[in-house]
Amino acid sequence: MFKTANLIKKNIPLFDKNWFQTGGPAKFYAEPTTELEFQACINYANTNNLEIFVLGLGANILINDDGFDGLVIRPALQDITTKYEDIPNALPELDTESKITQAAFVTAGAGVTIESLINYCLDNNITGPEEFSGIPGTIGGSVYINIHYFKYFLSDFLIQAKVINKKSGEIKLVDKKWFNFGYDKSTLIDKNDFLLNATFFFNKSTDTQAAFAKGRSIEIIRHRNARYPITHTCGSFFRNFHDNEVTQKIAGTNNKMIFVAYYFDKLGIKGELKVGDAVVSHKHANMIVNSGKASSSDIINLARKMQELVKENFGIIPQPECQLIGFNKYPLLK
Ligand SMILES: Cc1cc2nc3c(=O)[nH]c(=O)nc-3n(C[C@H](O)[C@H](O)[C@H](O)COP(=O)(O)OP(=O)(O)OC[C@H]3O[C@@H](n4cnc5c(N)ncnc54)[C@H](O)[C@@H]3O)c2cc1C
Repeated sequence: MFKTANLIKKNIPLFDKNWFQTGGPAKFYAEPTTELEFQACINYANTNNLEIFVLGLGANILINDDGFDGLVIRPALQDITTKYEDIPNALPELDTESKITQAAFVTAGAGVTIESLINYCLDNNITGPEEFSGIPGTIGGSVYINIHYFKYFLSDFLIQAKVINKKSGEIKLVDKKWFNFGYDKSTLIDKNDFLLNATFFFNKSTDTQAAFAKGRSIEIIRHRNARYPITHTCGSFFRNFHDNEVTQKIAGTNNKMIFVAYYFDKLGIKGELKVGDAVVSHKHANMIVNSGKASSSDIINLARKMQELVKENFGIIPQPECQLIGFNKYPLLK
């Protein structure tokens, strides 16, 4: 048994638990290591009428400078287990693979990082997750937003998961359909349930195939490091547009120009536009970097300027992919 007093701490800094390295503290904070502890956190929040925020690696969030006036739960569920089954040719076709002989069902706790999952898999000749090499985050945060890189979405591999309900603390097993996955979209975004673990359907590979996947992982990271900032950022600050939000077409095609970075690039703001130490990355026009002592307000003011420029010049308003935490009022343009 555990004591709630040992589990739930008060007034814990969050600036050192997110990638921007900004923002104020959590009024209450816990790192549950078991499902029972997670349930106890939910009970505590409900009993004390506290809002809950579930924190992963903080790679896709911006926390208000005033902090979060509720309970931050950072799941420390770190287990990874695997079951193997003979299901030939049932998996998504991967660049690393041609013939698949065995499936590996890998279950990872919400607090496992994508990097640890990839390393675990490659060490055990399991291929598939290396497609997400270099993406910072936990399983929880990554299923939440359905991380994507080029043609792969995490949902291509997920088959089932365990979630816990915010109100009742009830734990249930759900299948992929439950998540209603899409681009930057999953049922978890409704914030009624939190992820405890997820099971993925990967390939059990030969030594040669695994060696190829390791090489691919290194190559993806090298490519990413050349294209994106690798620290003090949340990655893409704004999501791409939906088809129905834009009219401009990609030259010579019938496809809509949905890529938000295209519009920022046209404005020439890369490495130029800044507010205090918050600056648009010189590598990528849709990435904001804290280049020193930026506050979350600096980052918000810069993001607003970016929205205003796109609105003035193209008549459309980018919306954030970055999750804004602890803001009572939406601080950007709608
Ligand atoms: C340098 C950089 C590069 C990036 N590149 C990419 C990329 O190529 N592709 C891509 O898709 N993303 C990318 N991102 C964004 C980021 O990596 C992902 O969104 C990642 O999944 C965030 O995971 P996290 O654990 O850090 O979540 P956090 O940032 O901590 O949280 C994000 C959201 O997930 C929710 N959440 C976290 N855990 C749980 C849980 N257990 N249950 C329910 N909800 C939960 C939080 O409440 C929050 O709303 C990049 C970010 C950075 C900093």
